[in-house]
Amino acid sequence: MISVQEAKNKVIENTNLSRIISVNASEALNYYLAEDVVAPVSIPLFNQSAMDGYAFNFEDIEQPLAVVEEVPAGDTREVSVVKGEAVRIFTGSRVPDTCNTVVMQELTEIVNGKLLVKDEGLKLGGNIRLKGNQIQEGSIALKKGTKINAGGVGFLSALGLTQVKVHEQPKVIIIATGSELIKPGNELLDGQIYESNTFMLEAALKDMGIQPAIVVVKDDKAETERVISEGLRNNDLVLLSGGISVGDYDFVEGALEKNGVKPIFYKIKQKPGKPLYFGKTDKVTVFALPGNPAAALSCFYEYVSIAIKLMLGSLQPELSKLTLPIDRTYNKKAGRANFLKGLTDFKTVTPLEGQSSDALQSFSLANCLIFTSEETATIKEGELVEVHLLP
Ligand code: AMP
Ligand code: MG
Repeated sequence: MISVQEAKNKVIENTNLSRIISVNASEALNYYLAEDVVAPVSIPLFNQSAMDGYAFNFEDIEQPLAVVEEVPAGDTREVSVVKGEAVRIFTGSRVPDTCNTVVMQELTEIVNGKLLVKDEGLKLGGNIRLKGNQIQEGSIALKKGTKINAGGVGFLSALGLTQVKVHEQPKVIIIATGSELIKPGNELLDGQIYESNTFMLEAALKDMGIQPAIVVVKDDKAETERVISEGLRNNDLVLLSGGISVGDYDFVEGALEKNGVKPIFYKIKQKPGKPLYFGKTDKVTVFALPGNPAAALSCFYEYVSIAIKLMLGSLQPELSKLTLPIDRTYNKKAGRANFLKGLTDFKTVTPLEGQSSDALQSFSLANCLIFTSEETATIKEGELVEVHLLP
């Protein structure tokens, strides 16, 4: 059995970047940029009014001004003013080159048909977003490795980009094993349980922008071998659930071996998730997750998601970490690292009730995993612990 850190290192060493593809900028959500994005235009492209009001020349601030023109947003004309003149202007409008200041309309008055500027605090250049103020043409808009969020989709579009280079999403299949598993919506007999891991893992993958294929198979040696063989043929990443322990009906390890998957590690000194398996063929990465649902999900976040993020080109593939005081004493056995389902307000962290490897109620409420090392036994209230934030 290896340690948590050794296992993570092996995942990192044995994962390669996916190939680079172009995607529509509007569909780039959750991808990571495969190269720096250079701004093809400045934003804004022209001096832009930040207010509804009047544009004028700051030198004229003390004098009544003749409002000679109106420039609505989208008006592309070059309107010019001379001394003593102003133009009516709106948020987003192009400010005439002959004006250098905008006053908001609430701080003006029209007296005898002339505009009076009543803004004591107004400075030269006030209420104007200068050309290139947000980003200059030719500069780096977003760096390689940046994850595209909704803001990123907006920014790429604002730059006029329609395509970006990203790393392809891996094709993923979830294969759940277990003769006791019944699909929700069907009648359950004593001895059977509702299948939950495929739905749970699918949700976690969808959160990363990935739609997996799903298969559920009974504890049958030949069937397990066949489904794995097919899964390996058509996917980049195979995620198995269950059947990886040492019971008489656990066929996954043997079926992986039979299909030419080389084990990289099997079993980690951790709780939950001791029987986690990681292996590879030339082309395909394989994780066999324990069947216990909370163990499967912990392993997904702590290991599988690292591999996926590395394939996608993330520069920070691990969960974000904080060091926080635990708000109650927690007793564990030394010898295995623990990932405790926890709830944090970012000041302290609470280990939730229900830490067993099948407990999903606590996982439903958790927003973090509390990592405690192999050596640790009792963690005293107030002691600092490593907190891994869930996405
Ligand atoms: P296994 O790893 O196959 O020995 O399964 C360990 C425990 O997890 C057993 O109680 C299984 O019934 C349960 N389990 C396995 N697979 C699933 C699944 N897909 N959904 C819900 N529970 C499961
Ligand atoms: Mg099983």
